[in-house]
Amino acid sequence: MKDVKILLSEDEMPRHWYNIQADMPNKPLPPLHPGTKQPVGPQDLAPLFPMELIKQEVSQDPWIEIPDEVRDIYRQWRPSPLFRARRLEKLLDTPAKIYYKYEGVSPSGSHKTNTAVAQAYYNKQEGVKRITTETGAGQWGTALSIACQMFGIECEVYMVRISFEQKPYRKALMNAFGAKVFSSPTNLTNAGRHILATDPNTAGSLGIAISEAIEMAVQDEHTKYALGSVLNHVLMHQTIIGQECLLQLEKAGDYPDIVIAPLGGGSNFAGMAFPFLRHNLVDGKQTRCIAVEPASCPKLTQGEFRYDFGDSAGYTPLLPMYTLGHNFRPAAIHAGGLRYHGASVLCSQLLKDGLIEANALQQLECFEAGIQFAKAEGIIPAPEANHAVAQAIREAKLCKESGESKTILFNLCGHGHLDLQAYNDYFDGKLQDHYLTEEELKGSLKELADYPPVA
Ligand SMILES: *Cc1c(COP(=O)(O)O)cnc(C)c1O
Repeated sequence: MKDVKILLSEDEMPRHWYNIQADMPNKPLPPLHPGTKQPVGPQDLAPLFPMELIKQEVSQDPWIEIPDEVRDIYRQWRPSPLFRARRLEKLLDTPAKIYYKYEGVSPSGSHKTNTAVAQAYYNKQEGVKRITTETGAGQWGTALSIACQMFGIECEVYMVRISFEQKPYRKALMNAFGAKVFSSPTNLTNAGRHILATDPNTAGSLGIAISEAIEMAVQDEHTKYALGSVLNHVLMHQTIIGQECLLQLEKAGDYPDIVIAPLGGGSNFAGMAFPFLRHNLVDGKQTRCIAVEPASCPKLTQGEFRYDFGDSAGYTPLLPMYTLGHNFRPAAIHAGGLRYHGASVLCSQLLKDGLIEANALQQLECFEAGIQFAKAEGIIPAPEANHAVAQAIREAKLCKESGESKTILFNLCGHGHLDLQAYNDYFDGKLQDHYLTEEELKGSLKELADYPPVA
């Protein structure tokens, strides 16, 4: 069999992150202060983030150097492998070439470690002693626990209650790396107490957990907050993924027609797609970049582009984004990492400008695709990653029908070793497709009527 694995040496690892803000034809609208409704300034964000990350958040420089200490840690698993999915191609009997980048080789098992290490590094530089954060399924909490442990920073994780109860192994993992893990909502915060008083049996949500983590961070000058996706600097830290793919595909003598990644908040999609979008914007390439979301949380395909909060309690700035409303409570599908109500500002603006595409898929098709992929390639994907696998299989089947040999690249952003309960549920016939009613879809959007318009 011909080459299936395309590797780079450590020396070939990219030295900069790519900041797409520099090349966007329409710059994103500014985040607004929740009280004054005026654009937020660096000083508004200073209680939450170290100054270097705030600078990155608003930077217009196309390239930001990756610090040596961060690169040294990246070397443990980067450059990550790019695979040509020859067995899957054969199984599908498609003329398409399918490549996947495998981020499951990172110590936390997903792409999240790329930004966790960078964020912990900048916090350490500025003397931060403790970082608070939220986690849904647990991937982000795990990645940040590892990174904080490496830099000697305490880590506190507010974990969405339903995941805390359903995924005890994730908690054990975070505890092993020294993190404290709370089931959110807690009665430690105003935001948590408020929810518990109105809905004691709540399953929790990412929005609530973010409010709790922010509330704890602003109370103490040595404590800051970290977010695992959505923000510009987080998306930028992930661009090492797509940059490595560019170099690897060059070695393979290929260039993608289609780039695919799942989208929760937007970080792994951005990480994969933005370096290719740069060539679309700067060199006139025409790669289609497709973000795939779950049909039960379809902000890109059925949400509205408007100002909304990033959390439930309304502590974050108002962000101009595709959203289902910050009180939208997605159904308990297994792709926990995709259950966020909004999409990052950068991905939202690019979608609005027609520079990227979005598609929503049902979970049964995604699991079926994930199992087909596992059988062919020997890797069990995270349920989130199954969305990219399913879209790649759709595109490969279209190639079979038309006889075109397109090159398809997707991000296998994490492995599914800690999601096997979801696979068991699938095999036992317990998973269902989920169709939102108009009421479910529009209910949480109505609350946004009084917020500033995006025009
Ligand atoms: C968190 C996560 C996602 C979704 O988050 P993004 O910010 O959109 O990247 C997808 N896949 C995996 C494996 C995750 O851990």
